[in-house]
Amino acid sequence: MRIAVFSTKPYDRTYLEKANQGAHELAFFEVRLSLETAPLAAGADVVCAFVNDDLSADVIAALAEAGTRLIALRSAGFNHVDLAAAEAAGVYVARVPAYSPHAVAEHTVALILGLNRKLHRAYNRVREGNFALEGLLGFDLQGKTVGVVGTGQIGEVVCRILKGFGCALLAYDPYPNDACTELGARYVELNELLGASDVITLQCPLTPDTHHLINEETVAKMKPGVMLINTSRGAVVDTRALIRGLKSGAIGSVGLDVYEEEADLFFEDLSQTFIPDDVFARLLTFSNVLITGHQAFFTEEALTAIAETTMANITTFERDGAPLHPVRAASGD
Ligand code: NAD
Repeated sequence: MRIAVFSTKPYDRTYLEKANQGAHELAFFEVRLSLETAPLAAGADVVCAFVNDDLSADVIAALAEAGTRLIALRSAGFNHVDLAAAEAAGVYVARVPAYSPHAVAEHTVALILGLNRKLHRAYNRVREGNFALEGLLGFDLQGKTVGVVGTGQIGEVVCRILKGFGCALLAYDPYPNDACTELGARYVELNELLGASDVITLQCPLTPDTHHLINEETVAKMKPGVMLINTSRGAVVDTRALIRGLKSGAIGSVGLDVYEEEADLFFEDLSQTFIPDDVFARLLTFSNVLITGHQAFFTEEALTAIAETTMANITTFERDGAPLHPVRAASGD
């Protein structure tokens, strides 16, 4: 099959070529997929896309017209794909449902620990010969209550790790996971989780139900000084409400790996220009905010699994006419 790979970084190329082993014809494009760049995929059976590629109805229609029959996502999340448009155009969509929940869960815990013990500030201080401890006070994670919103594959691993730290676990998920209950997590309503948690971590997908789940109203229900972590999708959090919560002190600290307008920022080196997003720039002014640029998935194991599953989706599509892990509009999966 001819595959047009968008948003390619050198590491994508390395891992995809290794998983491909010459089976398919790969064309790599560094640019993001958009209406303007879609013509690059002309004649490709498959378009291979990542989280910030534009897969809206117009783009899908343009791809379908130029011969694309499968969109193979290199991600688990598919909130950026207009599934109804894909179905109408007869284009299959496939994803990587599980690559390494450990990668994302471990990064989530890294953000909790780093933020709590203020490693980002300590690192800079020590390099400047400042060994004062004022402003670096943290808390014991042992005995604290952590609320996990979304207890699927990643949320389950988060629960498992935090149980090891001696945390009490609260969980909110419309579909409770027995493994989390066995780990000692107690399923409660969202309001109870918001009011009782010292740390809240978001591990749910972005859906119409979870869009801006964290907003003015839900922030007001949180324990004063709460630590909020988001490694799911940016738009689960209303960033402006988050900033107001930080300014009032309602929110004590924030760890983010995702941001609702990240498509214009993340995965690029903007250090020689400027940050064009004033809301994001405001977030960077808080010393109690720790942000990483959508790197939670970025481990060797995860990249290997993403590449292998993507190639398996494509090979299965070629052989059977349907990918191994299809995403369907009707089922939401
Ligand atoms: P999963 O499908 O295994 O689990 C998601 C869980 O969220 C499910 O149990 C589901 O029932 C629950 N959920 C759905 N709607 C909910 C709601 N309204 N409130 C609470 N819970 C709800 O998915 P996963 O593999 O655990 O991944 C979760 C999300 O993490 C993905 O959808 C993706 O957006 C994000 N993710 C981020 C990165 C990263 O690098 N930062 C990498 C992979 C995945």
